[in-house]
Amino acid sequence: MTHPRVAVVGTGVVGAMTAWRLARRGAEVVALDTYSPGHDRGASAGESRIFRTIYKEGPDYVPLLRRSGELWRELESTTATSLLTMCGGLTIGSPDHPDVRAVRACAEEHGLDHEVLDTAEARSRFPQHRVDDDEVIVLDPAAGVLRPEPAVQAALRAAEEAGASVLPYHPVDGVAETSSGWRITSGGKHFDVDHVVFAPGPWALRLEPLRTLPVEIRLITACWFAVHDPAAHRPDRLPIAVRRHREAGFSCFPVLDGVAIKIVPHHLGWPVLDDPDGLPRSADPEFARAASAAAARLLPGTTPHPVRIATFAEGFTPDEHALLGPLPGHRNATVMTGFSGHGFKLAPVFGEIGADLALRGSTGHDITRLAPGRRLP
Ligand SMILES: Cc1cc2nc3c(=O)[nH]c(=O)nc-3n(C[C@H](O)[C@H](O)[C@H](O)COP(=O)(O)OP(=O)(O)OC[C@H]3O[C@@H](n4cnc5c(N)ncnc54)[C@H](O)[C@@H]3O)c2cc1C
Repeated sequence: MTHPRVAVVGTGVVGAMTAWRLARRGAEVVALDTYSPGHDRGASAGESRIFRTIYKEGPDYVPLLRRSGELWRELESTTATSLLTMCGGLTIGSPDHPDVRAVRACAEEHGLDHEVLDTAEARSRFPQHRVDDDEVIVLDPAAGVLRPEPAVQAALRAAEEAGASVLPYHPVDGVAETSSGWRITSGGKHFDVDHVVFAPGPWALRLEPLRTLPVEIRLITACWFAVHDPAAHRPDRLPIAVRRHREAGFSCFPVLDGVAIKIVPHHLGWPVLDDPDGLPRSADPEFARAASAAAARLLPGTTPHPVRIATFAEGFTPDEHALLGPLPGHRNATVMTGFSGHGFKLAPVFGEIGADLALRGSTGHDITRLAPGRRLP
């Protein structure tokens, strides 16, 4: 029996997971990336990522999240690596905030375990957060913190162990459809394959067949604030959090480096970038001042100024749901991009879906919402 040959273009978390799932199923995989595994120029780096099961983005994600959770555990055991710490997750805000309502509605619809803490209980259980008089916390026990750089590396290691050829520092500079599949070119080398999976993250529009996809590249900035009491902010005492306050909104991650918690501000905007290679690497002082004000107001255990700031590029679609499916207008090609700031936790199941599409042309997972050719606002 011949093994289908599949090229994966881009090995951020999504391409890495796809390469792993494909290789495990016997495909002959070549996975190429411009940079090194776990690099910090795209969307899959920055120390931590949120895993949540109660999903404000839509209850139809819940089955995908459950499967992703299983695959995260499988990757951990295959590679003897710790990637996901189930520290729980908080949504903090007024009971009328749309995200608080969406989280409660999703938990109720799927019968998911959760607790709603009133203001007094919220303050006594999680004093690391300042909770205003009219606010509550919804606690998701099936949430946790993921480690992005080791995750990408683990998936690629598992892919290689299953027979994939993983090629960092191989920017793909040519993709052409052939009579039987695709010819992928990198620096004068050619790879002839039966199917190609495009997983280029925010670089999607640089590849000719993807040039017209509705993806916008945005800059997301993360800030780390040192805490006075690191032990009180570690994952065993501080869950991940989505903070929704009338003055600020951010996601918040526990101390993993022994020093600082991380916040990713949402209320300061995620500006559009013309080109992911133009990602500014330095901090904007205005942004740092505004992020510091939010931390001072809502995170009482932090020191006043960030100790670290990092910038990332991510592709967004107009409805903020990914583009995942057969590439419109082409044969033997799958596209996976535009994860819109929430793709990391789902990357293992997206990898499984990418492998289904490359090997069988269809998947048992419901990905209607993610169809690349769907009508978008
Ligand atoms: C700051 C930040 C915080 C986030 N927080 C969360 C969170 O808490 N939880 C969550 O679930 N999600 C979160 N997300 C979203 C999630 O991290 C992304 O959706 C996910 O990492 C996207 O992965 P990717 O593989 O599509 O993209 P990338 O990681 O950018 O990977 C794309 C890869 O393709 C390569 N590439 C591109 N073009 C070529 C080419 N021509 N040739 C070869 N290689 C190429 C690039 O070098 C890159 O390695 C966050 C995103 C950011 C930026």
